[in-house]
Parts: sequence; structure tokens; C-alpha cells
Amino acid sequence: MLIAPKQAELAIPPDPFLERNVMSVRVRFAPSPTGQVHIGNIRTAIFNYLFARHENGEFLLRVEDTDRERSTDAAVKGVLDAMAWLGLDVDEEPMYQSTRTDAHLAVAQDLLDRGLAYKADKGDTGKGEAIIFRIPEGSLRFTDVLKGELTKSAEDVPDLVIVRSNGAPVFHLANVVDDIEMGITHVIRGDDHIENTYRHVALYDAIGAPVPSFCHLPMIVNQHGKPYSKRDGSAFVGEFRDTGFLPDAFLNYLSLLGWSPGDDLEVMDRQRLIDLFSLERIRSSASQMDMKKLMWMNGEFMRALPREMFSTGFEQSLSDAGFDSEVHGDAYKASVVALMQERTKLWADIGRDSGFFFTEAFGFDPKAARKRLQKDGVTEVLVALRELLLGLQDFSDVTVETAVRGYGEANDIPVGSLVNPLRVACSGLGHGPGLFEMLSLLGQDRVCARIERACALILTGTFPEIP
Ligand code: GLU
Repeated sequence: MLIAPKQAELAIPPDPFLERNVMSVRVRFAPSPTGQVHIGNIRTAIFNYLFARHENGEFLLRVEDTDRERSTDAAVKGVLDAMAWLGLDVDEEPMYQSTRTDAHLAVAQDLLDRGLAYKADKGDTGKGEAIIFRIPEGSLRFTDVLKGELTKSAEDVPDLVIVRSNGAPVFHLANVVDDIEMGITHVIRGDDHIENTYRHVALYDAIGAPVPSFCHLPMIVNQHGKPYSKRDGSAFVGEFRDTGFLPDAFLNYLSLLGWSPGDDLEVMDRQRLIDLFSLERIRSSASQMDMKKLMWMNGEFMRALPREMFSTGFEQSLSDAGFDSEVHGDAYKASVVALMQERTKLWADIGRDSGFFFTEAFGFDPKAARKRLQKDGVTEVLVALRELLLGLQDFSDVTVETAVRGYGEANDIPVGSLVNPLRVACSGLGHGPGLFEMLSLLGQDRVCARIERACALILTGTFPEIP
């Protein structure tokens, strides 16, 4: 890379335009719009984006839509939507490769004219001749930022079709010509392109353009070390968005798929990611997609959301799930929100985890009902607890807790045999916020009525299920 002379050595003040041209990093995301945006693709976009922002450089988008049969407008829209959702803003208008055919063909013609390419009938259409780039003899080499010096004997690399016999430029030609045209300084892409890169550096040389830096990112794999695909779970950006992941959490998680800033630092906002990002700290080994960790990370971002924002999302999610968050007024709703923000991992879970606060006709998790309610002696315990709670003068969490624990001690019943049935009876769930806070918030009347309802359901032996 070119180094600008030090200030002190300059006789005239530095020309800012020149400086920018010498120093500025320009990178691009170059997806082929042939389907939904896979997490591996968007991770490439994220690394390019973080690198550009860290370096005060430029981040560009090039839509590689030369394959007219497989490229679709819907897929282009998918790319733009995914980037907008994650806030991966670009610095220039996107380049659409399909508009650049003439430029690609001109380069092919020039290579032909200079004897660096030749025509041959590849027999694929019978309509004409393909243009083939002659791979020079010797060795093909380039330096990868992560993998170091990579070399391959040219004997192992067959000559390269750059224009098909139907006149269409091939990916390799279009990719290289457009990277040159866009002034790309660093090509950051998946390591499935390494074999292509050997050919691409030969093309750069033949064209007479400087070879950019290459950084090939390790694959994203499943728990068996195989490429992560939709068979392993959600694999497309749109699915994560629709499930209710927060864009900043998703951005943070994907940045850690292959990169880390060190010091066990994991939860970072966008600016921190930008500040700390460097290509040198990308791991060269494959990175394993871990849904549990992504979920945990989303929970961290949920907790950190301004209360107002969480509250808006909470209400929306509840109403999407068919609950009326207004039934008990604003103060009650605000208390539930405060209690649940701590423990919400996904918008999509809110109906299931918080719906019971807003209806008396809530359903039950069948497993929790079986384990905690449909057992001998549970009805007796619940009836006694109801009696106890009904007699309390106030219903603060402390009072309820003291009463329940006291009852257990006096009757020699382990506290688990009291709190577990109580929780499922009053919420339908086996997990949730602190039980006593939850009961206090629900209030004495509703808690007692819910216990009665649970006892009646135990008697019938059937529980309405949570949707
Ligand atoms: N369209 C290619 C892909 O999606 C681009 C590769 C590149 O970044 O150069 O794999």
C-alpha cells in the first residue's frame, strides 16, 4: 500500500484530494441477487462495512446481476432491505453489473488484441466463439490478509472463459473489471472465492491494473463443521428480522462470527464495533453459528433498549399475539413492561411469555401443567394457599413471600412444592419473572381466582393450551 509522505517533509501543504486518493480504503459488497440473503453473505457485507467505517473509507454496493436467468428483482430488493435493516449504509449509488456489459466486452477485446486471450468454439451454443483468457505460465500468487502468501502452479489452472459464445461476459471478467472501475482497494469476500482469486490476479496483471488486497473470510458452519444452511435453522436475514431480532444485536452477533476484539468483549454497539474492527483480528478458522448465543445477545440488547422503545415493541407484539395490553390501565402495563424487559429475548416470545398478564383465559404449557399441576396432592396445596393469600391484608411481594414461606415451614412442605404449582396455576408457564413480584402485580383477587380456575382444570384433567 502507498504511504503518504510525512507532513514535515512536504514543502507545500498536503492536497486533501490527493491524500484521500492515496489513503482511502474503498470496499464493496458484491452479492449475486439470485435468492434470499444468507447470513454468510450479510456477514461479508458487515465486515466490509465495519472495515470501511473504521478506516474512514468508502463502502459500496455492486449488484452482480450478470446471470440474467437467475437474478431477480425480488432478490435485489432482499439485498437492499437486509442492508437497510442493519443500517449498512453505502457511500455511492449501487453499481448494477448488468449495465456494464459494454465495458466488460471492451476489456475482453483489448485482451484479444494484445494476444492475452483467444477465441475458441466451446460448443456450448454452437452460435459463435467464446473468448478465453490465457492463464500465464509459472505460478499464480497473491497475499491474503488472513492466510498469508498463497501460491498455485499455473499448470493446475486451466485457461479461463471470460466471454461466453453467446456474447455474455463471465463472472470473473465482470468482477475484476468492475473492481478496477470502482477503485476497490480491498476485496473482502468468502473463502469459497480463493480459487477464483488465483485467476483474478492474473487478469489484473494482464489488464495492467494494481492488484487490490484480498481478505478471504472463513465459512460459517453448523455444529458439525459443515457449511451452515437452511437445514440447520434460520439461515436468511429476512427470517431473523421477521422473528423479531433487533438489528443491532444481529449486527453485533454476526460481527463476532469470525472476528473478535479481544478481552472477551462481546456486547458492542455499532460505534464500538467500528472503533475496534480490524482485519487482522479475523480468525482464519471457520466460525460456528450458535443460535443460543444469538438469542442471549438479543436479550442483552432488549434489556438495554430505552424503556419507551421496549414498551412500544412490547405492546405491538402483544397485540400481534391477540392480547389487549390496555385492559388494566397504563400503570399496570408499565409495571409489567418493567418486569418483563429484564427477561425478554425476542419480540416473538412476548405473546407466550407475557400474555397471561392481560387475560384470565390464558392457556397452559402442557409440560408445565403435567409436571406441576396434574399430580396427587397439588389441589389440596393450592386450596390451602388460596385460603392463605385471601386472608392477607396487603399484597406486596414481601408480604406474599413471607406468607408462603411461613406456610411451608409451619406445615413442613418444601418451598418448591408451593411455588411451582402456584406459578403454573397463575401464569400457565413453568418459567417467568420472580414469582412474588408477579403475584403482587396480578393482585389478590386475580391470583385467588386463577388458583380456583386451576383447581377446576385439574379436576377436568384438560388444560387449554397456550397458542
Ligand atoms: N457475486 C459474488 C458472490 O456473491 C461476489 C464475490 C465477490 O465479492 O467478489 O459470491
